[in-house]
Amino acid sequence: MGAAGVDRAFIRKAIDAVDLNAVRLALYQNTGDPAHAALPLAPKMSEDQREALKQQAVDWLTENASTARLPEPDEAKLRELMCLATGEDLGDLEFEARREQIAFKDYPFLARWDGEPPAIPADFNVVIVGSGFSGVVMAVQCQLLGIPYVVIEKGEEPGGTWNINRYPDVRVDTISLTYELSFEKDWRWAEYFGRGEEVREYLNHVSHKFGVYENTRFRHALTEAKFEEGRARWLLDLDTPEGPQRIEASVLVTAMGLFANPKIVDFPGRDDFAGEIVHPARWPADLSLKDKRVAVIGNGSTGIQMVGAIAEQAEHTCVFQRTPQWIAPRDKYGQPMEPEVHWLMDNFPGFWNWARYMAGAPLFDTHSLVCVDPEWQARGGKVNPVSDAMRDDLKSYIERETGGRRDIIDRVLPDYAPMSRRPVVDNGWYRALTRDDVELVTDPIERFSESGLITADGKEHPLDVVVTATGFDVVKYLWPAKIRGRQGIAIHDKWEEADGPRAYIGSMVPGFPNMFMLYGPNSQPVSSGPAQSTWFTIWSSFIGRCLMKMLREGASTIEVTPQAYEDYNKALDKEALNLVMMTKEGGIERNYYVDNEHGRVLVNAPWYGPVFQNMFADPDWQALELTRQSEPVGP
Ligand SMILES: Cc1cc2nc3c(=O)[nH]c(=O)nc-3n(C[C@H](O)[C@H](O)[C@H](O)COP(=O)(O)OP(=O)(O)OC[C@H]3O[C@@H](n4cnc5c(N)ncnc54)[C@H](O)[C@@H]3O)c2cc1C
Repeated sequence: MGAAGVDRAFIRKAIDAVDLNAVRLALYQNTGDPAHAALPLAPKMSEDQREALKQQAVDWLTENASTARLPEPDEAKLRELMCLATGEDLGDLEFEARREQIAFKDYPFLARWDGEPPAIPADFNVVIVGSGFSGVVMAVQCQLLGIPYVVIEKGEEPGGTWNINRYPDVRVDTISLTYELSFEKDWRWAEYFGRGEEVREYLNHVSHKFGVYENTRFRHALTEAKFEEGRARWLLDLDTPEGPQRIEASVLVTAMGLFANPKIVDFPGRDDFAGEIVHPARWPADLSLKDKRVAVIGNGSTGIQMVGAIAEQAEHTCVFQRTPQWIAPRDKYGQPMEPEVHWLMDNFPGFWNWARYMAGAPLFDTHSLVCVDPEWQARGGKVNPVSDAMRDDLKSYIERETGGRRDIIDRVLPDYAPMSRRPVVDNGWYRALTRDDVELVTDPIERFSESGLITADGKEHPLDVVVTATGFDVVKYLWPAKIRGRQGIAIHDKWEEADGPRAYIGSMVPGFPNMFMLYGPNSQPVSSGPAQSTWFTIWSSFIGRCLMKMLREGASTIEVTPQAYEDYNKALDKEALNLVMMTKEGGIERNYYVDNEHGRVLVNAPWYGPVFQNMFADPDWQALELTRQSEPVGP
């Protein structure tokens, strides 16, 4: 037993369970021993090098374990550490984009006043709609700037989409260490990929800890927002338990989510069906599938996630597949996070930071994977070398998981490139398909009958419960609230008259001053950046910077110029043409992230991640117009 109060075997168990690169980085940062810097990346270390490093870490921790946090190193040291972490010679753009991901600062990415803040006018306030991840982060951003805000939430607690999705085995499919928010440094996940219940608990905790909860009005739904031009105020109509209410805001931030409106399939005969029809986002708490004949329609992330768990309970499970997906395994998916690893995160200064950083590292540079390489194609390749190699790996995985069953493989193998849709994580889906009580159905569904579903081949599939895991109407941004900007123009009309929802950097629309969207049109980054929850922070920081500018300059409105909006969207459409998802090889005609009617990408931001990130971190102020009592604010 050393100074740490735990024995060496316990520490060794922790070190054996974690990323050795993170151990190396934390050890080097603590000791400055150049021998750690000289080591190759973990996968390239010899067995002797690995063993020696583990011993050194155990020795050091036995004497020095501490709950102290390390301060952020100076820039040169930080760069050296980051280059060592991934073995790259980092360019400035990448260094700036990633440096805060290591989360040494209290509030990484979020905007802070530099020097004395200006006086905030008594009537200046922000209303944030939604208390999912993005609304909570935005609230923390306002709090940091000392700007009065209130969060309006139609649900009963924080959590957003995690409140409504309570289906069997719901959990994150990005590792929790990267899904968590970087300003909450003390949460230790029960599982490597947190279950929905824990994600809800987590966001509730963050909301309470950072003072957001007390500024949130639950069971309040925004029904209509109108911008009053003369007073530069938003008038917000709310549906509340006490009846309709109106409140005002200087600035409106919508954080209403992308997965808010379930897409309901409507096959003929629905009303004749005597069984139960369930959408995963409306899962009845008391639904038992024991001894039932269950259908799962849809094989996106949700459908795939639940099939294994359903098959365990049901008497018979029918998996209805329309479009095959690329489904990949994830290391440690479904596994508990060991208490030894929790201890390491709490007692090895810097380790939590590097563990998160390394967990996110596979996402740092994925752009080439999502783009077409015409030269490679001219030489007979399908998309590009990495994409084609990934396709081969995934094919081998399918063969292994299905035990080489051609009757399954031939039907589940996609004919388009991996990464042209959101990657889906395997939660035992392929294995479930090999069970005797699970049936894969690929004939199209034609209609409901009284006792089941009838497919195009005329076969009736007898069923008690039909689960429609058919996803969400992702393009119904802000729906069903009505948002009216200048001259009473409704945002949905504006979008419909053109070619669907658009925004400037996913956040602003001309004619809608003092309004920002989180997770707005084309804001889902397509590649090369941090995990999603860090993007909520990056987007919120942009809004924070805009609020700061308004307050510093005494402006009453801020708005994107029509020219900047148009130029940005033209550039976006052009950039999107490089994406494999926009080609036949990427299955464009079956991708609901693409608007095939107008031939444009709807949900994703096509940029290389660090470039997109920089648009928020270093706003182009020329694109935005500020006015003071209807007069432009001078330069
Ligand atoms: C099943 C599932 C699994 C997922 N797993 C992952 C994952 O592993 N990794 C990942 O990065 N992402 C994942 N996602 C994506 C997920 O949506 C985001 O990570 C994140 O939770 C979105 O947060 P949000 O705050 O933007 O939106 P939401 O969580 O949808 O929150 C929006 C909130 O706004 C409220 N609201 C909407 N309209 C109104 C109104 N008019 N008035 C008042 N309140 C309103 C809603 O009630 C809701 O609480 C998953 C999504 C789903 C559905």
